[in-house]
Formats: sequence, C-alpha cells, structure tokens
Amino acid sequence: MINYSSSELNVFDKKSLNIFLFNKKNLNEPEEVLTKFELEADKEILGEMISDDGEAVLFPVKSGGNSSTLLFFSVDQSKQNELRNTASKLIKSVRGKKFENIYLNVFPALKNPSVSTFRELLEGMMLGEYKFDKYKSSKDEEKPKKLNLVSSFDLENVISETTLLFNGVNLSRDLSNEPANVLTPETFASEVKNNLENEYTSVEVFDEKMLEEKNFGLILAVGNASANPPRLIKIHYKPENAIKKIVLVGKGVTYDSGGLSIKTTPGMFEMKADMAGAGSVAGAIYAASKNKLPYEIIGLLPAVENMLAGNSYKPGDVLTGYKGKTVEIGDTDAEGRLILADALEYANEFKPDYIIDLATLTGAAFISLGFLYSAMFTDNELLADTFDSAGKSTYELVWQQPLTKEYKSLLDTKMADIANLGPRHSGAITAALFLQHFVDEKIPWMHLDIAGPSIKNDILDYNKNYNTGYGVRLIYKALKSGKL
Ligand SMILES: [Zn+2]
Repeated sequence: MINYSSSELNVFDKKSLNIFLFNKKNLNEPEEVLTKFELEADKEILGEMISDDGEAVLFPVKSGGNSSTLLFFSVDQSKQNELRNTASKLIKSVRGKKFENIYLNVFPALKNPSVSTFRELLEGMMLGEYKFDKYKSSKDEEKPKKLNLVSSFDLENVISETTLLFNGVNLSRDLSNEPANVLTPETFASEVKNNLENEYTSVEVFDEKMLEEKNFGLILAVGNASANPPRLIKIHYKPENAIKKIVLVGKGVTYDSGGLSIKTTPGMFEMKADMAGAGSVAGAIYAASKNKLPYEIIGLLPAVENMLAGNSYKPGDVLTGYKGKTVEIGDTDAEGRLILADALEYANEFKPDYIIDLATLTGAAFISLGFLYSAMFTDNELLADTFDSAGKSTYELVWQQPLTKEYKSLLDTKMADIANLGPRHSGAITAALFLQHFVDEKIPWMHLDIAGPSIKNDILDYNKNYNTGYGVRLIYKALKSGKL
C-alpha cells in the first residue's frame, strides 16, 4: 500500500504533484487555486484544457520561480458514493507517475470538509490501488510511494485505523481472488492462521478426522468427494474489555462445481469466490482485532470443495447434521446452506449475543439485487438498523428481505426434517429459512446473502477487475458504531 500521511501545507516544487479536486468543468475553481497559492500560469490555456478534457488535467505552474505540476481532478458531487469512486480513479491515474510526493487537496471543490470526507477519500484510494497480479510475469508500473492529505485536521488516527482496516479488506480480497487450485480448504486454513493469530486471537483448525469425531455430518458429506478434504476453521478474538460476544459464520466453499448437480462452465468460472463469506469474516476479525474493538468475536469458517467422485453425496440422500437434524438432498449445488447449518448449530453452543452469517448463497439474491446490495434477513430490528446504516455509510449496501413464515413449508419433506432446496420461486428466502431452522431461536441472528456484491463488477470504479472483499468494512462499521 501507498504510505499515507497528512500535511497542513502543499509543497510546490519539481518533485511534487499537487492534486486539487474541482466541480466538473467549473473553470472558476481551478483559477481559485492559482490565485490562492499565488501560482504563475497561463489561465487561458488552463481554461482550454479544462473545457477540452475536464476530467483530469495535468498542468504546469511556477511558484516563486520554481516549476511544479498540478493535477485538477473533477468530482461530480451529485452522484452517490462519489468521493470513494473519484479517489479510486485518482489513485489509478497517478500510477506510474514519477513524483516523489503527492499532495491531495479537497479544495476548491469541498470548502468545508469534515474528518469523514478524508476517511472516505482514503478508503477510495486504498480500494482503488488494490491489485492481485502475483501470477502476471510483467507487473504494472510502480506507483508513488507517498501521499499527503492536505488538511488542517490531525488525521494520523484516521490513517492508522483505516490502514489496519484495509489490511483486513485486502486479506479478504486476496482470499477471494486466489484461484481454487491454490486456495483449498487446507491452504485457506493456513492463510487464516498465518494472518490472524496474535496476542488476543487464536485460530484452531478441525481436520476431517476431528470433524468426524465431532459429528459435523453435513460439512463432511459436502466435502467428501474432493481430493482436498474439508476443514472447519475457528477464529477466536477475545479482548480484555469485551462488551458483547458475537459469532460470525462464513461460507467457505473454496470451489463449487455443483457436485453431481453439476454447473455449466460459465457458471463455474466465478466459483473460486464461493468462499467470499468466510474470507470476509476472516478480514473483519483481522480488522477488529488490530483496531482492538471491544467485542469478543468467534469466527466459524466451514471450508470445503464441492466436487464429484464415486463417494459424492447425491440428490435423494438423507444426511444427518451436527445436532442430529436430518436433511433430504434435493440438489447437491445447494451445498452452502448445508455446511452453514453445521456451523450455525455449533455457533449456538457459544451462547453469543448475536450470530451473523455471510454467504454467497443464492443466484436468486443476485438476480434480485445485483452487485450493489446483499440480501439481509433478520427478525432483529437492532441488527437490521445497525447494518442498514453501516451499509449506507460504507456503501457496502444491504437490502432487507422477508423471512416469510408461510414459505417454510416449501422445505417440507416426508423423508427428513427438512429439504435443502425449495421450488424455483423465493429461492433466497427459502435458503434463509433453511439456515434459520438451525439457529437457536433465542439468539438474535442475521443472514447476509452476498452472492452479488462479492464479485468484481463495473458499477463501482474500485470493484473493477478483482473480487471485492464485500462485508469487511460493513461489519467493522457496524461494530464500531457501538450499537450492538
Ligand atoms: Zn452450489
């Protein structure tokens, strides 16, 4: 990551690039900059450049006889989430430029910035500078090493907190971008161990033998057919000042072929990211522990590969879960809810104040809400409100869906306690109702179906090219709010 710091002043010399945000194509604002800092330049040429290009104008100036360079970068304040998007584009545009120092001014576009203005810019830049190019022989040009946010606020705390938060975001992004031939249940477990273990955080990994001893029947059934056996990764962050206990559960299907109910090739392509929920739980606990948030957090990450072999589980099978509940299999591609069911029943045993699960669970959620929203299911108003406002402020948005009681009967079967698949309609809801069947009804619970927003997309500048790590900033913000 670039080294970010804050500075009260700009420096106009040869080695420095001074960036100014301005409202789209408003020529008066760039002129204000020249006047305020007593810079010598040809205003007419500046005017032509702004009206020609208008988005990003690199412009030479003189300051007390010294040459320097300005970059005017336009921002469209009528758009939602514009600061993060602008910052993301901006950091990409300076990639490869040879300046030693960069100074970023929100002036003249934003006359009265707050600390959160700078926090959003920082987040946008950290999101935008993310790359996953370890398998490319030739790398992109090197980026500048240092960037100063010009502000009269003391931003050091914001910068250090955001940097630690983004180590968690980037961990989650790395995990979901890593191809499935590298990230297996076993290597996933060691990545989590290597990154998360610290003074207040322990990581325990249940291998296939331990899973069998402890009767995690659904995790074992799904993971059975793979040459890479399943794992259950348990992270435990226990700070001294914990005010509440939360269990976070994440779906960790490191690859989903669909099993015997096999997918088509296009449907398989993104399936390395079917562990994004588990990756984001790991990233969120990382960020919470590094920033010492006062919550005891237990992360449960069931990690499996859903593959095909002679010992695959089959449509029509009846399986027995961790606490003895039985499930009739309608479709082996509805595997995520099975491994989550075992993990949720295990979660109940910790008697937490909340259970929250994140899962790339259904195509139905993606079809309905697209890339910007996860589908949120909960009967608990405090969880719903807290995550709704955390979503709006991080732009990791959630949209609440109903846990319609009547639809529960769509999962009825004569053969077992519940079926793992309902009819085609209301697919995201029946998946959530399936999970709810395994959660202790006395414990407030929330399910986020993140099938859409975990995957790379062209809607947000910073989500182009790479899977997104959705959920880390959302959970962190919800915890940080102190409402839970
Ligand atoms: Zn599946």
